[in-house]
Amino acid sequence: MTRDPRYDILFEPVRIGPVIARNRFYQVPHCTGIGWTQPETLARLRGIKAEGGWAVVATEETEIHPTGDCEPFHEGRLWDDRDIPALALMADAVHEYGSLAAIEIMHHGASCANWGTRLAPIAPSHRPIIYGYPVQARAMDKQDIRNLRQWHRDAAIRSKKAGFDIVYVYATHDLSIAQQFLERRKNDRIDEYGGSLENRARLLRELIEDTKDAVGDRCAVAVRFAADELIGKAGLTHDGEARDVVEMLAELPDLWDINLSTWSNDSQTSRFAKEGFQEEYTRFVKQVTSKPVVGVGRFTSPDTMVSQVRRGVLDFIGAARPSIADPFLPKKIEEGRIDEIRECIGCNMCVSSDYTSTNLRCTQNPTMGEEWRRGWHPEIIAPKKSEGSVLVVGAGPAGLEAALAAARRGYEVHLAEATSELGGRVTRESRLPGLSEWARVRDWRVTQLERMENVSIYRDSELEAEHVLEFGARHVAIATGSTWRKDGVGRDSGFPLPGLDGPSVFTPDDLMAGRDPEQGPVIIWDDDHYYLGGVLAELCRYAGHETIIVTPAAMVSAWTVNTLEALPIAKRMARMGVEVVPYTSVVGFDGTKVQLVSGLTGAASELPCASLVSVTARLPTDGLYMGLELVRDRWEDSGITSVTRIGDCWAPSAIQQAVYTGHKWARELDEAPTLLVPRELPAIEAGRVKATW
Ligand code: ADP
Ligand code: SF4
Repeated sequence: MTRDPRYDILFEPVRIGPVIARNRFYQVPHCTGIGWTQPETLARLRGIKAEGGWAVVATEETEIHPTGDCEPFHEGRLWDDRDIPALALMADAVHEYGSLAAIEIMHHGASCANWGTRLAPIAPSHRPIIYGYPVQARAMDKQDIRNLRQWHRDAAIRSKKAGFDIVYVYATHDLSIAQQFLERRKNDRIDEYGGSLENRARLLRELIEDTKDAVGDRCAVAVRFAADELIGKAGLTHDGEARDVVEMLAELPDLWDINLSTWSNDSQTSRFAKEGFQEEYTRFVKQVTSKPVVGVGRFTSPDTMVSQVRRGVLDFIGAARPSIADPFLPKKIEEGRIDEIRECIGCNMCVSSDYTSTNLRCTQNPTMGEEWRRGWHPEIIAPKKSEGSVLVVGAGPAGLEAALAAARRGYEVHLAEATSELGGRVTRESRLPGLSEWARVRDWRVTQLERMENVSIYRDSELEAEHVLEFGARHVAIATGSTWRKDGVGRDSGFPLPGLDGPSVFTPDDLMAGRDPEQGPVIIWDDDHYYLGGVLAELCRYAGHETIIVTPAAMVSAWTVNTLEALPIAKRMARMGVEVVPYTSVVGFDGTKVQLVSGLTGAASELPCASLVSVTARLPTDGLYMGLELVRDRWEDSGITSVTRIGDCWAPSAIQQAVYTGHKWARELDEAPTLLVPRELPAIEAGRVKATW
């Protein structure tokens, strides 16, 4: 296949100071939850992006000094020379495929507590640190500023030694000291680093100049900058001080990498922002500088990308999440394989890895984070090593992924689905308010499956054990999913709640099947804490019902702090008129009132309620599996070697985990399943740890 000439412009080389990017695809710095802890893992992950065609591949934020340590988060570290080899692994992996390696060196200033190093954080002025710890940053004196500049210069030189081609100065997301100096609300200094904007921008200017001076002969110097903080005039705005700073420093760096601050504004989920949402804030930059500009906006459509370049909004198509969901996105455009692009769904499960300090994972791309430790490649999968066909029962995310991965291995695959629709829960959930992009999990897989000759899909085919035996496939995956329980059992109550067996009690499955609570007030008992309770509240409000969420947590959809959605969801609930009752348990329902108990005082109370929606827990739909267990003695005669539960049928979890278990099953079809995960361990030499971490 050849590339559509419309997209040629995306493959033009672009000069960035002393280096040249081979095309316009730019993987901007993004966190991984891996950081300094697993260098091989990270090098492989980033190297695959380069292989997939990203002309620039960047690190995550990389700390330059122990006074800017953000434990317990795992970011990059370049504190001293001993960190060079680990980062060089990544630069080499990126160079192997002809891409440029970029490093985002930075100091956290007042954004981190130094909880690991126990050193006092530093900041332009005395301020509490930004995130959650009972710690204050102390105001820097002149010597501190000189030290900071020296650390940054040293880190730039180390970056060059490690082989990087682009070195960043970081001033966005409210995570960087250079941005904190810019912010009037955080900088009340009375010296030449405070007061006027020119003074507040002095440190940023000096860091750019120092970096250019230190490494500019061979490395490009990029500035990652906040075009807007979305807090009005109290912060940097695209039509105020942010614009003034870019105008002031327009030609100083070799590249402007522009986004929104904070990270939650920058990486908004598809529930809150659509592709290209940053344009109104970032488009001014190209008007005030002749230097190349990279920007982000969850770009997955090549037409949108071309439009950004043609209309003079951006020179580079920046991506974090689209490059995670599909590391081969540029290659697929280049080779005219547009319909093979696995588009990001904007769920931010990837972000949760950083928030939980665990290896990067992705709903759409099950290989993400597993490139080194499991040897998984997003585009390459080992051919089958054994004969025989495969039967996958259930076409939800687990079944679809299992079928596709097995088919790519060359197996003859039969996929049976009970209903007329493929997609299982993603089809159901994508019809809920704000979740339409989730259907991409289904659409990408179905598109691939439907064009494969070794795949047969059977809709309206609810299988029972006898059917499976008759089928005679060698390997059977049971991907029959799960259903929401109605009895109230969950985290909060291990026992069924009285009254939940009545007709005006609904589960999420009922609502998704179109059963509308006919009357309000509707009470949503959210003991699940992820997105669904809040989304169903939206649904009920759109249907015109008075809606109240009761939750034992302190806030609605509490787990979504890990997907950057907690505040946007809380705001949406408030604006839609959904009342949230926190720290409270539902303990019973009589058809007209719910009985509540306060988690704070233990006091009992009641709320009028015509319809109760119980969002507590799920049970695997494992009847088919149990039926097959009963006839295990007939498997061999039927030609069955293995029957395995995957996805929610094995253990209900997030969609991401269903896709992952489906993929893993297919990868390991003719191998012993790996329960133990390979790890990167410090080497011991002569009885001592070789590397001092
Ligand atoms: P997962 O997240 O694990 O993929 P889902 O609940 O999304 O699970 O999907 C399970 C799918 O399996 C649904 O589409 C459901 O209709 C289908 N299914 C359930 N039982 C059977 C069965 N006995 N035969 C065929 N398909 C089934
Ligand atoms: Fe996109 Fe979700 Fe994957 Fe993140 S986890 S890259 S948001 S699909």
